Amino acid sequence: MVDFKELQKEIMENRRQKGFGNDVVYDFCRAYEELSEAFSKYNKGEPGVAEEFADVIIFLLGMSHNLGFDLEKELVGKIQKNKNRQYKKVISADGKEGFIRIKTDEDP
Ligand SMILES: [Mg+2]
Repeated sequence: MVDFKELQKEIMENRRQKGFGNDVVYDFCRAYEELSEAFSKYNKGEPGVAEEFADVIIFLLGMSHNLGFDLEKELVGKIQKNKNRQYKKVISADGKEGFIRIKTDEDP
């Protein structure tokens, strides 16, 4: 199991050593950019998609550190939440199959 807090420390130390700031808005933009790079490579059949995914996660971990989030806890909790969710199958007007989440009091 990966220790997110240790990774965050490593990421923040690297940023500090390189002289990067902690601008959360800029980091949101960079995370989008990295995801776009991943899609572009995937779409063109180029290698390096996994490395771009890693870049996205690095930015997410850095932002989580700066915003005080425990991203590991959030991730584990969200995976469990998704497991407990119920969906119903629907057919759209154009005949395509889709799913709609059934909302509950606990998960509105
Ligand atoms: Mg990249």
